[in-house]
Amino acid sequence: MEAPADPSAVTNAESTPRATGAVGNARRLLESLPDAVFVIDGEGILVDAGGAAERILGWAVEEWIGRSVFEVVHPDDLDMALVSLDSVGGKDVGSPIDIRIRTADGSWRYVEIVGASYLDDAEINGIVVVARDMTERRRFEVAANDGDLLSILVHNSAAITMLVDGDGSVRSVSGAFARLLGHDPELVVGRPLIHWVMEAQRTRVAAALVDACRRTGISTFEATLHHRDGARSLPLEFNVVNLLDDPVVHGLVITAYDISPLREARDSLEFLATHDPLTQLANRSLLVERLETALTHVPDRGILTVFFLDLDRFKPVNDLLGHEAGDHLLCEVAQRLEQVARGGDTVARLGGDEFVVVAEGVTSLATAQAISRRIETSIAEPYHLAAGSVSVFASVGFARSDESSTADSLLADADGAMYLVKAERRGEIRPQLLPVTERRALAEALAIALAEDQLRVHYQPVVDLTDQHIVGFEALVRWQRPDGKLLMPGDFLTVAEEAGLGLLLGRTVLEHACAQLHSWRARGADENLSIAVNMSSAQLGDAEFPSIVRQLLNTHGIPPSRICLEITERDALERVAGATGRTSSACLADLHALGIELAIDDFGTGYSSLTHLREFSVDVLKIDQSFVSGMCERTSDAGIVRAVIGLAQAMELGAIAEGVERPEQAAALRATGCTRAQGYLFGRPAPAETFDSAILPAHAIAR
Ligand code: C2E
Ligand code: MG
Ligand code: MG
Repeated sequence: MEAPADPSAVTNAESTPRATGAVGNARRLLESLPDAVFVIDGEGILVDAGGAAERILGWAVEEWIGRSVFEVVHPDDLDMALVSLDSVGGKDVGSPIDIRIRTADGSWRYVEIVGASYLDDAEINGIVVVARDMTERRRFEVAANDGDLLSILVHNSAAITMLVDGDGSVRSVSGAFARLLGHDPELVVGRPLIHWVMEAQRTRVAAALVDACRRTGISTFEATLHHRDGARSLPLEFNVVNLLDDPVVHGLVITAYDISPLREARDSLEFLATHDPLTQLANRSLLVERLETALTHVPDRGILTVFFLDLDRFKPVNDLLGHEAGDHLLCEVAQRLEQVARGGDTVARLGGDEFVVVAEGVTSLATAQAISRRIETSIAEPYHLAAGSVSVFASVGFARSDESSTADSLLADADGAMYLVKAERRGEIRPQLLPVTERRALAEALAIALAEDQLRVHYQPVVDLTDQHIVGFEALVRWQRPDGKLLMPGDFLTVAEEAGLGLLLGRTVLEHACAQLHSWRARGADENLSIAVNMSSAQLGDAEFPSIVRQLLNTHGIPPSRICLEITERDALERVAGATGRTSSACLADLHALGIELAIDDFGTGYSSLTHLREFSVDVLKIDQSFVSGMCERTSDAGIVRAVIGLAQAMELGAIAEGVERPEQAAALRATGCTRAQGYLFGRPAPAETFDSAILPAHAIAR
């Protein structure tokens, strides 16, 4: 770049021997130059101007004296101009830069400016800036470069590049527009860009373009454009650079990228994060999110009902027929649940064989119960898998929202209700439908009860049916509350299991029983006297349990054969078929090897087969009291009782009839060959000392 014009230098250079006219000549010479010359102070205030200044800018110079030259600099170029001004201060001549300046008619022109500092010059005392109009040259360069490498690159780039006028119509467009959207560029040019935007987005995109025209710098928006085939559409991200002020470009330079791969990746990530990969149902996090959203709208949308279900007998399908069959079944369950659910309902899988259905606007309890039954019926239909047809059943519990409900409390309540439905079906305990907050309080109190020894064990005699003498007892747990209330197992066992207190509770009862038997034996009770202790499902799944039993027997000096452990038929089946199946089978085998007697409790209420009975290596079947209580009235019950006793005899197992309340039941049992029984007829469960007189020697002699 040439050196800056220096008025004095010009004067000197052009000075001729005609000395008197020298200044006037220099001025005239200056005016004839194609460049403009400005003199500004250190702050950019115009002090003087000459040369082509008025021609280039269209301003009358006098109007501008005393004003900041930065007023005419384009906002986007302002920083550059300021930096340049600063740099001039430090050295004599600055570096030339191209900036846009506004002319009197409001249009913009490109000028190349270069400054030289004369701040130290007493006469000039300013910065001399020479400006050259580059607008035409730029135009020429752009025109000359047409078809050069850069334009080939733009044309072949994967991104769409286009030039859009201030009114939104396309002036020029690169090849990618045709490649991505199939539209003929000839047809695109001259038409408004929003013509290709999806109808629903047009207003927004038009506003974004107007906004881009108003602001400087880059603006960004997303829009979906129609493909020519009419069926497809493409999401694009648009980056708009506003060059409306650029005298050459005079438009919006827009680049647009296909963001469909990004969208798909984003969508599939989002789907993965919120759905169960196997069944494609909502997962727990999406379920909780939907519940929370729905709960905030409950007042307008009515009550929320959360149905919680898990499958009974799913584990055997998975274990025996393979995981593929299990997966197939779970997918089928998911489909059936979606059919039962209505359009707006959420169906979710929480993992394993647990599912949740959320229904809105179910206002009556009866409807909720009807939906539960519909779910159960639909799940119970046979599944036709490659390996054959199988049946599973659903236990459904539900909870309904109230003002204090949260997503967590609703799920916990529905889960609890489901657990109780299951337990109720097993018939082993009479569960109470407690809300989750009460169950939590109960679990906390129970943990304290265990630590403070509030548990009591009552004993119910087991008698020989021939002469009704006591051959043993069943230990039954009670909870002596500090307030004097005595709670029955049905009041707290479910909560104990839920809260993970089952192992500790079981151990405590077993310890009491061993200590009691030791005490009776030490005081001369019959050495064949035995005590049966109920075993929880948690104990059966605990690999440590057999060694705990051995240790307790050793501590109290009890022969293993004098302790009988009872496991309900349901628990035994579920455990052995379930995830901890191997541990549970091994546990039963270890206990058996110890010499402990094993009994199946509530026999007849589950579905065990002869194979199971052999697998469990049990010694005794306890006939469920529901059959005993009906055996004198219903022939079917009598038949079951006879069949169980026959089965026990055939397999050389003992049989104990439970719940004998009336003498005719005892007589009927005796007639069928049953030798042992338990029930209110012979004695209710009571504290150990109640039976001292019946089993200790002095009284025996007295009898
Ligand atoms: P279970 O093992 O079948 O015990 C028999 C239940 O029937 C006891 O109820 C007993 O009081 C009751 N019963 C006995 N004779 C009669 C009768 O003639 N008529 C009627 N209607 N009922 C009779 P309880 O004590 O309420 O125990 C209920 C269940 O709780 C037990 O059923 C057992 O499954 C469980 N359970 C009790 N103690 C424990 C324990 O220490 N650990 C575990 N895991 N479960 C226990
Ligand atoms: Mg029992
Ligand atoms: Mg029982």
